[in-house]
Amino acid sequence: MEPIDAAVILQHLIDPEICIRCNTCEATCPVGAITHDARNYVVDAAACNLCMACIPPCPTGSIDNWRTMPRAVAYSVAAQFGWDVLPAELKPEELAAAGVSALDIPAEAAPAAVAEAEGEGVFSAADCAAVIPPWSAAHPYANLYGPRASEKFVIASVAGNVRVTEVGREYDTHHIVLDFGAMPFPVLEGQSIGIVPPGLDAEGRPHHPRQYSIASARNGERPGYNNVSLTVKRVLEDHQGRPVRGVASNYLCDLEVGEKVRVIGPFGTSFLMPNHPKSSIVMICTGTGSAPMRAMTEWRRRLRKSGKFEGGKLMLFFGARTKEELPYFGPLGNLPKDFIDINFAFSRTPGQPRRYVQDLMRARGPDLAPLVADPNAYFYVCGLKAMEEGVVLALRDVAREGGLDWDIAGPALRREGRLHLETY
Ligand SMILES: Cc1cc2nc3c(=O)[nH]c(=O)nc-3n(C[C@H](O)[C@H](O)[C@H](O)COP(=O)(O)OP(=O)(O)OC[C@H]3O[C@@H](n4cnc5c(N)ncnc54)[C@H](O)[C@@H]3O)c2cc1C
Ligand code: SF4
Ligand code: SF4
Repeated sequence: MEPIDAAVILQHLIDPEICIRCNTCEATCPVGAITHDARNYVVDAAACNLCMACIPPCPTGSIDNWRTMPRAVAYSVAAQFGWDVLPAELKPEELAAAGVSALDIPAEAAPAAVAEAEGEGVFSAADCAAVIPPWSAAHPYANLYGPRASEKFVIASVAGNVRVTEVGREYDTHHIVLDFGAMPFPVLEGQSIGIVPPGLDAEGRPHHPRQYSIASARNGERPGYNNVSLTVKRVLEDHQGRPVRGVASNYLCDLEVGEKVRVIGPFGTSFLMPNHPKSSIVMICTGTGSAPMRAMTEWRRRLRKSGKFEGGKLMLFFGARTKEELPYFGPLGNLPKDFIDINFAFSRTPGQPRRYVQDLMRARGPDLAPLVADPNAYFYVCGLKAMEEGVVLALRDVAREGGLDWDIAGPALRREGRLHLETY
């Protein structure tokens, strides 16, 4: 790793052309070196210590860019916010003009620095999150169709679009089926796709793609068809509650059957389900975070129906403000109790105390702790960013209550690809 006061640095940069603004890197960086505005995700050279923790989780590889730069003229955060493309490497003569000799140029950033990012004293959910898939996960295909305008993309047809939360409520979530026709688009449960909304943004540039988790099983929303389903919440207010009309979510929720949609991806190589017999899955989600959980549940249900697979436990902790806001509430209730153990948490049911998924996890602690200890049990968390820390803390408390040493159990979850976080 370069000393912080070196005259020449290996500057860590994000390629704005490929980045799909998924926030994974910002959530992963242990030192808060990554930030974003409405346009770009960027790395602050003054804060980045080249620890490499953000590299494996990035679904597009856009995070893995490096430039040899004289520290004095390193690209500022403000400059990076303005980029549409990455600047080229400085030529040797440009470096020489800045007083940099070949001897000053730093070696590749050392991947061994990853270890330094782990095991820090302060609790962080991201520290426990795995960046590798379960050992028995099927091989995922990723980035088959890329975000660059010059790259290939797929045009899918809308095969269905239905509202899955109660009509008349402010919370409007749609189940959307996209059909790829003859184009190959292999996906696994837990992966996501990118939707490229048509038109231009306020600055006249094409909209950047938005990511949506696949809500269907690997063999299609309709088995044997080349299609996927998505669970899309219509964004009508921003995270601060101010009125806004989200570009991609409104575009998707308003699509009519037969319309064409530009799709890239698939993305994601670690939030994948285990495939070995007797493996257990614990799913913890809020809102549209239910999409990958629906996909995993449906794949297990199809396997069970075929009689070809002996699954372990399937546990679901699902939070929403009210049951009317819960996508797929009806169909979930129809699943056999010996197939899936469902726990609903509602935080705004009139006349009822507020309950969050963390509360239910603590209440089910005696059932969860053995799963934390079980190397065949895998945990998946998806939904609102705000839930992440609380859920992992609840898991830690449950483990401790169950007599486990979290300092051993927590790192094992990460190391063995057993705790997966996807929040946005
Ligand atoms: C890995 C991953 C998987 C995702 N899966 C899903 C999914 O399955 N279903 C789904 O609906 N979304 C999912 N998202 C979120 C999705 O990618 C978009 O961010 C979301 O639909 C908003 O996009 P937009 O174009 O409508 O809003 P934008 O036009 O991008 O944003 C408009 C404003 O709304 C704010 N905003 C953005 N997202 C939200 C939100 N979710 N709630 C409130 N305010 C918001 C923005 O900060 C901005 O101020 C996922 C994101 C990631 C990274
Ligand atoms: S695509 Fe990669 S670089 Fe862009 S926000 Fe996601 S993790 Fe970060
Ligand atoms: S290399 Fe490490 S410090 Fe730098 S941005 Fe990535 S996670 Fe943060």
